[in-house]
Amino acid sequence: MNLQEFVAEVEAQRAWRAHGIRAPHKPLTILYGIKLALCGTRLIPYRKAAPELSSLLVRYGPPTDPNPQDPAWRLARRDGARTRIWEVRSEQPIRSDRSNNPRLTDLNKFASIGLSEEAYALFHDDPAAARSAATQIASLILPESRQDELVEEVLEGRVTAASPDDESNQPPSLEPVHRELESASRIRRDPAFAPRVRAAYGNACAVCSISPRLSHATFGLEAAHIWWARGGGPDAVQNGIYLCRMHHIALDRGAITVDGEMRLRVAPTLEHTSECSDVFHRFDRRPIRLPSKDRDAPSIQMLKWHWEQVFGLKNLAPEQAERHLS
Ligand SMILES: [Zn+2]
Repeated sequence: MNLQEFVAEVEAQRAWRAHGIRAPHKPLTILYGIKLALCGTRLIPYRKAAPELSSLLVRYGPPTDPNPQDPAWRLARRDGARTRIWEVRSEQPIRSDRSNNPRLTDLNKFASIGLSEEAYALFHDDPAAARSAATQIASLILPESRQDELVEEVLEGRVTAASPDDESNQPPSLEPVHRELESASRIRRDPAFAPRVRAAYGNACAVCSISPRLSHATFGLEAAHIWWARGGGPDAVQNGIYLCRMHHIALDRGAITVDGEMRLRVAPTLEHTSECSDVFHRFDRRPIRLPSKDRDAPSIQMLKWHWEQVFGLKNLAPEQAERHLS
């Protein structure tokens, strides 16, 4: 198996369901396997992997229970046959429950998980290959603003349960295959999206109003998709919001959203330091800066996707959710 075949196998694991519902659990689990491979570990007992896998799923997956046993188990087989990329090794047969899910107690007791031998061989000695695959996989499941964060975390190889290895600390070199894979996965974008959103919002952040100018040009401002382009969100102004870099990342991370009354909402779990208050909490429940034309304002349909798939409905007041989700 070469790198492109590996990535194609991962792409075959669907990371999205209909209507833009996020299902990044399998790709994230694979990334965890790559991270282990960089540390010189192929198989790791499931019970040791579960906490870190959960943490990855919580931070990069949708706002639902992470449930790491499911992808860790299912990646090993597809359509009844073994996959070439993942292995579950077990000292004893793993029993299933009534809904055909593996029993957690059995997984914890008997199972080890990780990349298959041939997949492991691609990465354990090759940080450049790991970067290439991780970049490609991250682009399948996250908006651009958050891809680097995930790739760097995989390459850092911070796996507490595994033995560290110097390889993971070497600066990765960029190979041609890296660019090739990246461009193959890039989704088509309407080049007019960003200028339209910028014009609609008057070239300032819709949350904090910052519009820093140097030599007559602004910087650090971006047109964000509310319903991620990666998840099928359209390049329409009503799916856009113009934000500074920090508020863009916060939107994509689910730290902030816009409610049905066009007020900013901050996740209640975002920490309450004075710095976070300055940048986030002081805007909580305040109206965002809206486009001058009503028809350019964020659409409720796009916002609903963000509440459900990124911000978490439980973080919105119940009356908000009821009013707009019926
Ligand atoms: Zn801002």
